[in-house]
Amino acid sequence: MAQADIALIGLAVMGQNLILNMNDHGFVVCVFNRTVSKVDDFLANEAKGTKVVGAKSLLEMVSKLKKPRRIMLLVKAGQAVDDFIEKLVPLLDAGDIIIDGGNSEYRDTTRRCQDLKAKGILFVGSGVSGGEDGARYGPSLMPGGNKEAWPHIKTIFQAIAAKVGTGEPCCDWASSGFPVGEEGAGHFVKMVHNGIEYGDMQLICEAYHLMKDVLGMRHEEMAQAFEEWNKTELDSFLIEITANILKFLDTDGKELLPKIRDSAGQKGTGKWTAISALEYGMPVTLIGEAVFARCLSSLKEERVQASKKLKGPQKVQLEGSKESFLEDIRKALYASKIISYAQGFMLLRQAAAEFGWTLNYGAIALMWRGGCIIRSVFLGKIKDAFERNPELQNLLLDDFFKSAVDSCQDSWRRVVSTGVQAGIPMPCFTTALSFYDGYRHEVLPANLIQAQRDYFGAHTYELLAKPGEFIHTNWTGHG
Ligand code: NAP
Repeated sequence: MAQADIALIGLAVMGQNLILNMNDHGFVVCVFNRTVSKVDDFLANEAKGTKVVGAKSLLEMVSKLKKPRRIMLLVKAGQAVDDFIEKLVPLLDAGDIIIDGGNSEYRDTTRRCQDLKAKGILFVGSGVSGGEDGARYGPSLMPGGNKEAWPHIKTIFQAIAAKVGTGEPCCDWASSGFPVGEEGAGHFVKMVHNGIEYGDMQLICEAYHLMKDVLGMRHEEMAQAFEEWNKTELDSFLIEITANILKFLDTDGKELLPKIRDSAGQKGTGKWTAISALEYGMPVTLIGEAVFARCLSSLKEERVQASKKLKGPQKVQLEGSKESFLEDIRKALYASKIISYAQGFMLLRQAAAEFGWTLNYGAIALMWRGGCIIRSVFLGKIKDAFERNPELQNLLLDDFFKSAVDSCQDSWRRVVSTGVQAGIPMPCFTTALSFYDGYRHEVLPANLIQAQRDYFGAHTYELLAKPGEFIHTNWTGHG
């Protein structure tokens, strides 16, 4: 008998938690998994006493669903998603909905959306963020795809999503436009979210490095500083967990953090964001540097060798007090973070132009406001900025962010120059400042690049006084 509101395929950690979350909100979920024995295991254990129902085959699963059928996949991204779609299509009717909640590449989502549209099936690619805890108690959900599906999934999605403020769900349609061209928008937004997460984490690491090696702070002091910072504009999940990590003691009573090998791993979504930035010509420099910082960190053996041979500067004498430099670091982190988000939204805007998506930037900021790893009070300010002006070209041009950067600027420059003199690597602090200085310059030295290109390759240049007219000069006087 058709009884279930939604089916969920994939009984690994994300799937299980999302099912229990849906059940908590009164939805009847029918579950299936490639390894079918996991269905019974789940029903007998984690889902015991819930309204969750199981299916031993896709046919049985489909027969248990109310129409239009809603089927969500939470399986390994890639071929597994295509394999399930191929098996599901013959069992479904026009108007049924398939949702992919995995970390799929946005181009795959676009392809699937188009293929399924031709078959009358509505496809949704939804970013899900917040890890297993988020999935269980309220993730940030970033759906995009065939807009006709939204009215049928909105109630479930908004019920299970994280809530902020007065109960606003961290889930809205990633695009507010028409179905054409919206395909991979949800997964693109999720990808940029992950890239921003890389940037936020690296910025915190650079602050930690400065505190440790320039200010000589002990772990306990650093933990306290991050706790204080969490009561300021920097109030966020990542700052909160950093304070907890810094004061965490190992079984021997000593701090655990300095014992951890300094080689960062990565799964690829930061890299995808940087690749998209290069592809669409957007200077998303901070995320790029954050990815490269992880790459450099993973060259551990090489760095150990280099550290024995390559010299840095003499120890610097700090001008001013320790307290004031600590406050400088906080402000440098805040200003750099604003740059990172400004760059992330520049990439979203460019992708929207490339693909004909009408992205709702305020709604995207709200989706990231709670539930996910980059959740922060700051995202509420971004939402407000786009609400004040939905056409806002760049976050830096919004009055709030303009004056926020203004008020941090002197500190930011002091931190970068002191850090450089002390030989501390700060790829994200420095690239953020360079971007800011580049973006605010009416004239950049690219006139010289154009002249060089024309000199060696006859690539032509435009005169400021004659836009649109391309000129070649014989720079050497040779024929
Ligand atoms: P996962 O380890 O990525 O995937 C395991 C699930 O995929 C199992 O149900 C497994 O079935 C199924 N599967 C794997 N290969 C398959 C194949 N070739 N054909 C059919 N099914 C296959 O699980 P997860 O960590 O719960 O993540 C699920 C999705 O959410 C992924 O796309 C992941 O990237 C994304 N995600 C994960 C997190 C996280 O914190 N873990 C956060 C956000 C998003 P069997 O049981 O039969 O092996």
